[in-house]
Amino acid sequence: MENIWIYETHTDGYEVRWRITDIIHQETTPFQKLAVVETVEWGKALILDGALQITEKDEFIYHEMIAHVAMNSHPRPEKVLIIGGGDGGTLREVVKHQCLQQADMVEIDKRVVEISQQYFPQVASAISDSRVNLHITDGLVYVRDTAEKYDLVIVDSSDPVGPAIQLFSRKFYEDVNKILKEDGMLVVQSESPVFFTEHFRNCFFNMKPVFPIVEVYLATIATYVSGPWSFTAGSKKHNPRKIHNDSPVLTGLKYYNEDMHQAAFCLPQYVQEIIR
Ligand code: SAM
Repeated sequence: MENIWIYETHTDGYEVRWRITDIIHQETTPFQKLAVVETVEWGKALILDGALQITEKDEFIYHEMIAHVAMNSHPRPEKVLIIGGGDGGTLREVVKHQCLQQADMVEIDKRVVEISQQYFPQVASAISDSRVNLHITDGLVYVRDTAEKYDLVIVDSSDPVGPAIQLFSRKFYEDVNKILKEDGMLVVQSESPVFFTEHFRNCFFNMKPVFPIVEVYLATIATYVSGPWSFTAGSKKHNPRKIHNDSPVLTGLKYYNEDMHQAAFCLPQYVQEIIR
């Protein structure tokens, strides 16, 4: 397989292609088509329904930025819920915080978890952490029905298609609000402001009526379409722009640091216009 290219279609007029040397695994789960491929440039990659989810080489950027901005904006995030995130990368970052007592991860597709444990052990390493509870169910149902209360909810979902559509809805954000403690915070991956402008805008305006503080931040993720990727944080009390966590900032990270925390909230003018 020396010259095999796979195509990731983003819009009718834009595709990205990747040269791969091997299709390591492929299957159709009850929820999606799942593949693991060996790419030439980015190491192994996990693909769901034709959309690239993680690569070995740059997954740290997305996972550090979805986890540590909120973990450090909250003074003491002891109890955290992750919706989606079946590859385990967000969980791996969350468990690095010593204040963490309990992390619940709710992934709809158990095959994503199993395949990640098999082919991306360095990403999935925290799933066996004693503070972690894994729930294989729909995040919408879990959030609607649980009696638990969380300091932080992180929505590490796939793009808003299939089972992930409602994870971007106002109703879902209202349900999340109810399971957050009085100073709780929500952070979601909110898509590319360049290519998925409507999804990004809808996410912001669906969250805005639900939380008194809503802030957007960006990270540059090399393998995600267009580079800048957005995250949207809804907070009941603490400003996500500020580092409130008393614990020392973690060392040994590869993207996140205190300067990146501040800088990530500086939005280019065209992004500010979208959410004005
Ligand atoms: N970093 C990734 C990205 O944005 O490309 C997201 C990674 S993670 C693999 C997304 C996960 O969300 C998938 O494993 C998918 O099965 C899960 N998911 C989608 N809809 C869900 C739902 N309603 N409840 C729980 N998990 C869901």
